[in-house]
Order: sequence, then structure tokens, then C-alpha cells
Amino acid sequence: MTAEKTLEHFKQTNALLEGHFILSSGLHSPSYLQCALALQYPPDAAKFGKAIAEHFTNERIETVASPAIGGLIIGYEVAKALNVRFIWTERENGVMTLRRGFSIKQNERILVVEDVITTGGSTRECIFALENRAAKIVAAASIVDRSNGAAEVGVPRIALVSLEVPSYKPEDCPLCERGDEAVKPGSRRI
Ligand SMILES: [Zn+2]
Repeated sequence: MTAEKTLEHFKQTNALLEGHFILSSGLHSPSYLQCALALQYPPDAAKFGKAIAEHFTNERIETVASPAIGGLIIGYEVAKALNVRFIWTERENGVMTLRRGFSIKQNERILVVEDVITTGGSTRECIFALENRAAKIVAAASIVDRSNGAAEVGVPRIALVSLEVPSYKPEDCPLCERGDEAVKPGSRRI
């Protein structure tokens, strides 16, 4: 799946909105990304999963792991396409942890998959939790890279599409300056 096709799908499903938005951080941005909307239909999620899996067919991946919640659907689909098992990490008292009885063998070759990478924070936390259990993290992947290649996670990383998503403090926002009204995503039909 090409980057163009991926972007087109995101726009069609309203997973990528263009306008003037107030993000949950309070910053303003001309675009808003809600990956869950792009993955609502299982055949679409499966397509993205296959597209990511194709990058790793020769890497002898034994397990796909994702940070919950964002990575669960796409990670599962990547694991399905690679025909390997799928596990996830989740926060416990704020710390990304492997729970639910999932075990990892020494040097198990793991691919970490997320829906969107912004700073790489949750992917890094997921990697850290798995390395603490003696896993060998082979690589990381996401559908969208919002850092446009900048996020470092300590292992090789791919994304189906890279985006530069600018965000501004309200007082520095060029869209506000132009007199456009900023909206919270989902607060009205766009
Ligand atoms: Zn603004």
C-alpha cells in the first residue's frame, strides 16, 4: 500500500481532518488525526496489517507486540499477516508493563507495532518493558509517522506514511491570526 493510498483512506474515513483544531494538548493545528476511524472496518485494518508485515517477511519475527490501546488492532493484523503470536503491553500505575500472563523467551525476536508514532514515547516504553524481559526487539513500525521521520525509538523503524503535522500555541497560531475559529475535533460535523 503506497503512502498516497494510505493518506487517501485516512481522508475518506475522516481519520485525517484538515481545518483548524484544538488538540487535547491545548495546542492548535491545521490537521487532526484519529487513527481509530481508519481501522473501523476489519478489511481495511487487514490491508494495513499486510502492508506493514511485508516489510518484515525476512526478519524471522516470532512475535508482534503493541502498546495498548492504540496499537492493538493494527498489531493484531500485522501478527495475523506474519502468522505469529500477538501480545501487548499496557500501563499499570503509569508504567508500561507486560501483564496478563504473557511470557517471553530469551532473545525472542519481536516487532513492535503502533498505529501512530508522534514522539515515539509509547513505542519506546513498550520496547523497554519487553527488553526488561530479555526480548530481542528487531524493529518498530506504525501506519502513520507524525514526526516525519524524527522520532527515535532505538531500533530500526518504518511507517506506511510520514506526515509533518504542525502545532502551535494558541497565541502563536497563524490560523487564529487569520481570524479562523478553532474547533475541538468531533464537536461539529466537518
Ligand atoms: Zn489557532
